[in-house]
Amino acid sequence: MEIRVTKSTTIGQKPRPQDAELGFGKYTTDHMFLMDYTQGKGWHDGRIEPYGDLRLDPTAMVLHYNQEVFEGLKAYHLPDGGIALFRPEKNIERMNSSARRMVMPEIDPDLFLRAMKKLIILDRAWVPKSEGTSLYIRPTMIATEPALGVRPSDKYLFFMILGPVGAYYPEGFSPTKIYVSDRYVRAAEGGVGEAKTSGNYGATLYVSREASQKGYTQVLWLDAKERRYVEEVGTSNIFFFIHDELVTPPLGGTILPGVTRDSVLHLAGHWGLTVVERPISIEEVVDGCKGGSLKEMFATGTAAVISPVGLICYKGEDFQVANGQTGEMSKKLYDEITGIQYGRREDPFGWRYRLA
Ligand SMILES: *Cc1c(COP(=O)(O)O)cnc(C)c1O
Repeated sequence: MEIRVTKSTTIGQKPRPQDAELGFGKYTTDHMFLMDYTQGKGWHDGRIEPYGDLRLDPTAMVLHYNQEVFEGLKAYHLPDGGIALFRPEKNIERMNSSARRMVMPEIDPDLFLRAMKKLIILDRAWVPKSEGTSLYIRPTMIATEPALGVRPSDKYLFFMILGPVGAYYPEGFSPTKIYVSDRYVRAAEGGVGEAKTSGNYGATLYVSREASQKGYTQVLWLDAKERRYVEEVGTSNIFFFIHDELVTPPLGGTILPGVTRDSVLHLAGHWGLTVVERPISIEEVVDGCKGGSLKEMFATGTAAVISPVGLICYKGEDFQVANGQTGEMSKKLYDEITGIQYGRREDPFGWRYRLA
């Protein structure tokens, strides 16, 4: 498929904040990629256009029954002026598996990557250069057929937008306070927890607000059946360094298979650490806080890479994790992964994908 390009006539006119004021998700670039799907015809009309509003019929299926999937990844400015992505094939593969779960059409991975590359190169002036900043990429697919029946749509729109985002830790790598939810759950067995689909996030807002009103940064999710086993933290995967083993819950349908999670498992194994994917109960975590066997706890995701946890609140009681300090393992993993992403370190696994 040829990707048609219509250049914006207002390049240079959008607000361009200083790198220190970027934040997350506040700014978008000059262009976006769009592509349509029609039953019988497949994907067609791949095109880059000036960034702007979408037009949807009010009965467009996505607005009613949540047939939507998305991804999130970043492009990084390299020391030699180039631009790199981090394991983009993993995000593309995951978007297609989310799409299958939501009965949506898959996208040819080569076309997906080619579109991403073309869009980023066209808007490359937007890739911020300061330490820790990046260009966030949000590929999204929505059901657009105008019809109110509850069934899979026969029309879809795929769009990809970009936006510069700030450093996650402008004031240093500091531990977060986590609120354990033993009442509300994120995902149940047999549900759609392992898909990056918008309903999973809307469903978490109620308890996230409760946590933030109580002064906690994120919610820790327990399994839906017993409210006992730890699953994820906010929109991140979770790791524990306990009894000299790096432990993370196994993927079993309710946990989002994070690219950062996979990278941490790979790296830690490569360093010779014992890495275990097994269920871990909240009692074991609390006991580990009290007895000191829990040396580190951290969340992983594209946004923050590694986010150390300093304190957890369970059933109204606060427990400090390893004196509330950032652990060595968290720091080492953060330095290594960001080092690979920003081209400051060797890339032994071929994770860096150079665009330009
Ligand atoms: C996106 C996401 C993650 C992290 O995935 P990465 O690929 O590492 O960014 C973890 N949990 C949830 C619920 C997510 O949506």
